[in-house]
Parts: sequence; C-alpha cells; structure tokens
Amino acid sequence: MSQAPKTLFEKIVAREIPAQILHETDEVAAFADINPQAPTHLLIVPKKPIPRVGEAEASDQALLGALLLAAGDIARKLGLDARDKGFRLVINHGRDGGETVPHLHVHLLAGRELSWPPG
Ligand code: 5GP
Repeated sequence: MSQAPKTLFEKIVAREIPAQILHETDEVAAFADINPQAPTHLLIVPKKPIPRVGEAEASDQALLGALLLAAGDIARKLGLDARDKGFRLVINHGRDGGETVPHLHVHLLAGRELSWPPG
C-alpha cells in the first residue's frame, strides 16, 4: 500500500527539517514559525496530518481540543496569559483564509499589540 508523502510539518516533527521545537506531546508539537509576524510566532500542529480545519472529523474532537490546550499551556509558560499582555490564535483555511501549508496548524502570535480587524 502506498503511503502519502509526508507534509512539511510532519517532516519538522520527524526532525527531517530543522525547526525550533518548543513543546511536544504524543499528539501535538509546537515550533517557531520560520517567518515570524510578531516577536512570538509559534505553530501548533497535530502530529496527525489533518489538511485543514474544515476537513477535521468528529473522531478528531479530542485532538482539536489538545491543540487549543497546548496553545494555552504554551502561552502560560511564556507568561503571555497576563491581562496586560495577551496573545492571538489564528487558523487559516483555504486561499481566502491565507493557508499556505496544507497541514492543520494554529498560529500563536504575541509580543506586540495586534490590530483588529486582521488584514
Ligand atoms: P499558513 O499560511 O498556512 O496559515 O501558515 C503557514 C506558516 O508556516 C507560515 O507562517 C510560514 O511562515 C510557516 N512556514 C512555512 N515553511 C516553514 C518551514 O519550513 N519551517 C517553519 N518553522 N515554518 C514554516
């Protein structure tokens, strides 16, 4: 049986492509974005290569929860949860959403005041 080629983020998790991995569990990993849009810019990914959020299935419910819990854990560890700091989580889906890597990921952005609405 042929296997799907690894996604970019699967290769990062497998240490085949270097990245600064800051957090890892059996289910998820978080690493620094190569092109940071804020002083802190991390990507939190499921190890399972779900292409994008709109393709997640009911059986992925716990995994989707694990992604957000990991984001909260990381933010607390970095001291970003204080009311006078803060952070933003972003998930891009598809062309209009700005998705460029077809492996579900949550952006964690922090370290500057982020404008709203986003561009
Ligand atoms: P998207 O545009 O799909 O929401 O986000 C993809 C993100 O992956 C972008 O912010 C981009 O900078 C980041 N990225 C693309 N290639 C690499 C890479 O090789 N290593 C790391 N660490 N991040 C990457």
